[in-house]
Order: sequence, then C-alpha cells, then structure tokens
Amino acid sequence: MVNAGFSSTASAWPTRPADVAIVGGGPVGWAFALASRHALGAEARIIVCDPQRPQAPADQAPLGARVYLVAEGHLRWLAASGVCLPSTRSAEVSRIEVLATDGRAQLMIDASDAAAERLGLTIEHDALTAAIASHARTLGVTQHAVRVEALTMLDGVRWVETADGALEAARLVVLADGRHGALAKRAGFERLERDYGQVGVVAHFRLGRRDGGAARQWFLPDGSILALLPLADPQAPQDGSPGNSCVSLVWSCATERGEALLALGPKALTEAVREVAGRAVGLAECISAPVAFPLTLARVADPVGERLLLAGDAAHAVHPLAGQGVNLGLADARVWQAVLAEARAVGCDAGHALLLSRHRRRRQGPVLAMQATIDGLWRLYNRAPAPLAELSGRAMRALSSLPAFRHRLAGAAVQIAV
Ligand SMILES: Cc1cc2nc3c(=O)[nH]c(=O)nc-3n(C[C@H](O)[C@H](O)[C@H](O)COP(=O)(O)OP(=O)(O)OC[C@H]3O[C@@H](n4cnc5c(N)ncnc54)[C@H](O)[C@@H]3O)c2cc1C
Repeated sequence: MVNAGFSSTASAWPTRPADVAIVGGGPVGWAFALASRHALGAEARIIVCDPQRPQAPADQAPLGARVYLVAEGHLRWLAASGVCLPSTRSAEVSRIEVLATDGRAQLMIDASDAAAERLGLTIEHDALTAAIASHARTLGVTQHAVRVEALTMLDGVRWVETADGALEAARLVVLADGRHGALAKRAGFERLERDYGQVGVVAHFRLGRRDGGAARQWFLPDGSILALLPLADPQAPQDGSPGNSCVSLVWSCATERGEALLALGPKALTEAVREVAGRAVGLAECISAPVAFPLTLARVADPVGERLLLAGDAAHAVHPLAGQGVNLGLADARVWQAVLAEARAVGCDAGHALLLSRHRRRRQGPVLAMQATIDGLWRLYNRAPAPLAELSGRAMRALSSLPAFRHRLAGAAVQIAV
C-alpha cells in the first residue's frame, strides 16, 4: 500500500526528500512543525507522521483529562507564530501557591512580581495540540496518518518506514513520539528511565464560587503531592466574569493510593480532595471520571543522532509536580527555530550535524537543570526525614517573604529559560 506522500519502494521517490519529517503529532511534534516552517520558509517540505489526527474539542464538549499550565513566554511565542488558542477552553493563571495542610502559604508567586498580567494559561492537551496543528496546516505542513515502525539511514538521508513498508525520505527526522520512547530505543538511543512508583490521578471539579486564577499545590506528609489548577468551564455561559469556576486535580501519589482514589465515587473523591484543599478552595462537585497516569523520570544520554533529533517527552519526561512536561518540549521547539534560522543564513540543510550539535549545546544544560530541580524537590519530600522536609517548608516561607526572591521566581515562571 502507498500512503499519500509515501512511496512503497526506496527507488521511487515520492517527491524530493522532506526537509523535516516529524514523527509524533502531540503538542511538541506540531510545535516543531511550526518552528521549522517559520525558520525555513514556505518552500520547505515539512511533514508530521501520526496515526491520530488532532481534533479541536467542540465548543461545549466535556473537558479532556490532561490539562497543561503553559508558561506565558511560550504563549507569547505561540501568538507571535500565529496560533490562536480557544479562550472558551483556557483559564488564566495569575498566582502559584504552595500551601501547608493547615492552609498556611509556604510559597507564593504572583504575576505582579514579574510585572506581568499572568503567569500562564491552563489548556487541555487536545485544544492545545489542535490549535498548533491547525495553524501549521494553513502554512502548508502536511500530516500523514501513519504509524512509523523504523528509521534508517541510507544514501545520506533518513528513511521513515511504516508498518506496511511505505517509505518517506527526510533531511532531518524529529522524533517526538512521547514518553514510551519505543522508536528512540529501536534507533539505538541510550534511554535512562526511573519509575517513581507513583501515578498522577487527574479529575476536574466545579467550584461553589469563582476563584481568582490561583494554581495551588500541597506537599502532603505521605509523600503525595496534590495540585489544583484553574480550569475553564466550557459548559458555563461566557458572561465575561473574571476568574475560574472549575479546577483540575493532579494528585501524584503511590500507585496503590492512586488505585484507591480511582475506585472512589465522585462524592467520596470530592470529599478526599476537600480534606486537603477545603480551606483554600470551595469544591462543589467532581465533573469527570478520574484517570491515572504512571509517573517516570526519563532522559536520553544524547538527544542527537545522524539526521535525527529527539524532542519532548521522547527526550525528557519529568514528574508533573512542577507542570513542566509540555513546557520543556515547547522550549525545545523555540530553540530549534532559532538554530534553524541561523543555519539558513549559512546555507546548510535542516539535518546538518553542525545544527544538531548547536541545538544539543543549547538545550542539554537547561533540560538537565530542570530535571535535577524537579527530581531534587520530589526526593526532598519523599525521601528526606520529616524534620528536614519541615525545615524546607520554613525556609520556603522565609524566602517567599523576600520581594527579590519572588521577583526572580516569577520571572522564571513567566519566561521558562530557553
Ligand atoms: C498526569 C500527568 C499530568 C501532566 N500534567 C502536565 C502539566 O500540568 N503541564 C505540563 O506541561 N505537562 C504535563 N504533563 C506532561 C505532558 O503530558 C507531556 O509532557 C506532553 O504530552 C509531551 O508532549 P509530546 O508531544 O512530547 O508527547 P505526546 O503528547 O505523548 O505525543 C506523542 C505523539 O506521538 C504519537 N506516536 C507515538 N508513537 C508513534 C509512532 N510510532 N508513529 C507515529 N506517531 C507516533 C502519538 O500518537 C502521540 O500523538 C503531564 C503528564 C502526566 C502523565
């Protein structure tokens, strides 16, 4: 069988090789497509291979399970790239609060500390991916609805091969196939993985009264971390009232505890969350069936191969405690756009080794730093003796009272170092 744009034999080229072929059409894969299009211009051939086509949720459709807090710096990049995010399905985040179970704030970061109007937006996985994909398509990026099985080097180009033997040649393949990293392993990348022995339990709740755009987090004595993110309510009338009327839960906890939470009915789950968050947030009802995701730390020793670049979760998966998963992947795409634009001036193609090593140099440090920070924080609360964790809570409260510290943190939250 020959797929649109693919050829069934290596000798019959479908057209000239793609400049960039992206395997995996999640938010990061499509962000790379957009970045490549802007850097290389309209003549470049850019394709995305993914059997799933991104679907924008219908206006009043129930909210999808996975919700991201996308940092303001990335939102500005998306807007400057022409992407329009649906306002009915996103909520502004103007404050981040880390709280103790007695309701005392241990750390507070406000957008005003960074002289910004907001720190970011929360948006569902499907709405974000579909918005980026839809704009990339209007700029001429094409999607092949195929599952890729192998990546081979031959005659100086990368060959992308599907299960039925169809082929596509590319100057560069960006592998953004998500956290399982199956293709990266097959392509010989050394992938380091550590299972946290935890799951992230996700569910959405309606509030009794509107809230003011705060993302809140509790580090609990049993080592679990409960986070509530502001959430849009697509089923509520759009009357322009400020604040959010729903929240999204990510409760990172031991696998057995996660299974127990999944087994609770909506009322009992609301009660369990209220026991932790009740002083800060007025939960009314649970409006989605809870789902759980296994949590792992993963990274590759080197994200670059011959005419091959790993990006997003395929290159680095992190614990969701800092909400950085998709932000790290969007940072990969922004840096790639800058590197590729520089290359165009000197006339090398997208898969040139010089470009790939420049991208590696710019991303390896920030990615490692972010992974070490998130993992270190997780260890502090899960592995450190209780007095040390309590001491760190007190230290956080003291630091949080310093305007200069809050200013630095807020600036970092808005920008996300790239
Ligand atoms: C519980 C939980 C909560 C999270 N919360 C947050 C949060 O608040 N903020 C945040 O920033 N991040 C969060 N994340 C992380 C976030 O989900 C990931 O970082 C993000 O999805 C990574 O995007 P991606 O495009 O790299 O991969 P994915 O979104 O996983 O996309 C991979 C794509 O590749 C395709 N694919 C796979 N194999 C193939 C193949 N062989 N051929 C072709 N296509 C293929 C798949 O169909 C899929 O579309 C959370 C994760 C979890 C588990």
